[in-house]
Amino acid sequence: MNDNKKKVIEIIAVGSEFLTPHYQDTNSLYLASRLNELGLKVSFKSIVGDDRLSLLSCFTHALKRADMIFVIGGLGPTADDITREIYSEALGTDLEFIPGLLKNIKNRFDRRGLDMASSNKKQAFVIQGAQILENKIGTAPGLWIDDPRAISVLLPGPPMELKTMFDAEVFPKLEKYKTGFQVHKILKMVGITESRTESLISDLYPEFEHVDLSLLAYPGQIEIHITSHSVISVDQAKSQIQPQMESLTKRLDKYIFSQCGEELEEVIGKLLIKNKKTLSVAESCTGGFLGHRITNVPGSSQYFLQGIQAYSNKAKIQLLGVDKNELLEHGAVSDEVARLMAEGTRNISGADFGLAVTGIAGPGGGTKEKPVGLVFTSLSWDNGFKVEKNQFLGDRSTVKTRSTQKAMDMLRRHLLFKEAVPDRS
Ligand code: ATP
Ligand code: MG
Repeated sequence: MNDNKKKVIEIIAVGSEFLTPHYQDTNSLYLASRLNELGLKVSFKSIVGDDRLSLLSCFTHALKRADMIFVIGGLGPTADDITREIYSEALGTDLEFIPGLLKNIKNRFDRRGLDMASSNKKQAFVIQGAQILENKIGTAPGLWIDDPRAISVLLPGPPMELKTMFDAEVFPKLEKYKTGFQVHKILKMVGITESRTESLISDLYPEFEHVDLSLLAYPGQIEIHITSHSVISVDQAKSQIQPQMESLTKRLDKYIFSQCGEELEEVIGKLLIKNKKTLSVAESCTGGFLGHRITNVPGSSQYFLQGIQAYSNKAKIQLLGVDKNELLEHGAVSDEVARLMAEGTRNISGADFGLAVTGIAGPGGGTKEKPVGLVFTSLSWDNGFKVEKNQFLGDRSTVKTRSTQKAMDMLRRHLLFKEAVPDRS
């Protein structure tokens, strides 16, 4: 393969499960991001089932159109793992038995005190002329085949095995094909919609000539991904992206909660630590999801005191001390009850802040006055409180996610700005 020519790169994910709605091919995302770091862009991605004819057709086609082909999965010992065999057919080569490889695989089983199944023998057959890529954490070796048609790299499917092998064995070999340098930044925002974001920044687009910019929308979160390429140096890629980052952060300012990949729960955790404050939550419609997210952050015990799941009216009264008359008068989904829940969890635990969520996640339970997606979020502190009425769209899990985003953002805004920031979501 000519080293200087622009490469056509194809990734092929093998596995019938990725053609169903239940599994996602995540390995190719990892490969694409690592290849992009070298300035190598992927032109084609294919997903193909564990079926001989489909595999042969896909591999043959790739060998005609691509210069570099990454095939993921199907290298294992089971009957449906036929990547090696079919790839050698597509190349028109034979499989070769490597006794040393079988010994290595057998040693792995011996070390764990296990018998090696006879089916594992299959993994010691490699495509003739291929270089073997060591699998440090599994049995299936990878293969690197340098052929006049293309460089083909066969990698194991289990994501940890793929990453470990790619980083140790493949990435260093790819460095010589590097076409440039790339810097990737992510701005994460909350409290703003995609269209509002776009309207705030669209006049800047002509300035983004040297960078790729994409806007991604998730429930309760908007992200701007900016990538800068340079054929000269990483410093040049950085300097190209810097002015764009500055103009975007100026425009989007208080909606941005992270510029380095952090999640919202990590950001509020850091703010609580910085301010030496503690937090407790009370949840109705989010059913513990808010507490789960907050406690996903290592070290959250420094600031998180308790989470109370008060789903029923009785629980709200008994566990949080919500006044029964207020609850009957306003209903469980109301600004009064949200406030009483936030105050309740704060008072009971002695935390500096109480955050509460009560709402109708759906799909049932909505009325004309209180439709599905109506959620009250409340923040309570020693001499004040805030309640927000939200009307979220989406299915049950989306409403739950949006509710947790909103609740955490109320705390973030309070800790950072104290004053109100207009919500544009
Ligand atoms: P094994 O030795 O485990 O059989 P393999 O190389 O044959 O490995 P597969 O059998 O295709 O790989 O897949 C093994 C596991 O890795 C599966 O559980 C699958 O969910 C996961 N996997 C395979 N390909 C991908 C992919 N492209 N993205 C994410 N996960 C994947
Ligand atoms: Mg397998």
